[in-house]
Amino acid sequence: MDEWVDFRAVKEAVSLEAVLRYYQVPGLRRHRSQLEGCCPIHRGQRDDSFRASLSKNVFHCFACQAHGNVLDFVAAMERCSIREAACRLQQWFGVGASGRPAPLVLGGMEKVELVREKEGCNPPLHFALRGVDHSHPYLQQRGIDRVTAAEFGMGFYSGPGLMSGRIVIPIRNTRGEIVAYAGRAPDGRLPKYKLPAGFRKAWELFNIHRAAATSGRTVIVVEGYFDCLRVHQAGFPHVVALMGSALSADQERVLTGRFNRVVLMLDGDAAGRAASQVIGARLSEKCSVVRAHVPEGMQPDQLSPAAIQELILQATRAELRLFETTL
Ligand SMILES: [Zn+2]
Repeated sequence: MDEWVDFRAVKEAVSLEAVLRYYQVPGLRRHRSQLEGCCPIHRGQRDDSFRASLSKNVFHCFACQAHGNVLDFVAAMERCSIREAACRLQQWFGVGASGRPAPLVLGGMEKVELVREKEGCNPPLHFALRGVDHSHPYLQQRGIDRVTAAEFGMGFYSGPGLMSGRIVIPIRNTRGEIVAYAGRAPDGRLPKYKLPAGFRKAWELFNIHRAAATSGRTVIVVEGYFDCLRVHQAGFPHVVALMGSALSADQERVLTGRFNRVVLMLDGDAAGRAASQVIGARLSEKCSVVRAHVPEGMQPDQLSPAAIQELILQATRAELRLFETTL
């Protein structure tokens, strides 16, 4: 079914600056209303080939000759048609940061939801951040060793851009492609976590590509990135993080499509226990679910490897006893 798209309205509603931020294009320097840096389209090394005029909302690359407006930019990045680029922009920027519909939502919310439902994925990034420090003291402080940090591609990023001065954590889709970086403040700075505008975490499960590669049928589900990293380090590569305490329909579909047994290891606080009830009930209609009881007031990332192993063992023993009594 062909959808009607108002190209002009999309161009007017979404600035080139917002799109560059969406792609987390690194290393752009600003001179008045112009940005200059490496071209994210042909991914060249020359750091002065790409120019973007923020006042005119146009860009030009002197190396690959790509040029045009936001639609041309997205079409070049996504290697798609102008129409498709407009649809994606509508989808990514359909709702403003304040939560109210932006003026570009021409057919109303229904149309945006329709597109979202149909697409249902965050596009892969066209770059990887360079110069990430895997041995930053913050990682040691959180009990993440250098090997794990390097394997996950995480660490301190001192380059320019949205993630500057943060611990960056690549989020990969089921195919292992990076779809975003989450940026954790290494100090008391707010927000604690930064994610690029337009990125939908409800469409992803952190670490799913590694968990799926284990080819086992069991998956451990935790809330946060660091919980996931610590469980991984404790010897359980089949672990994913919800990036919160809610399970979206997309996450549920991916989990139950690939695994038939889920070990829920959510935080040991009221929110975590409540989420564990709700999520456990939902999942148990489609697969077997066991709960690992994280001690009161604790999170998996605060537990020693031995304590994590013990929790998982206990959960499995409880499941076996239940199985025996129902025989
Ligand atoms: Zn170029």
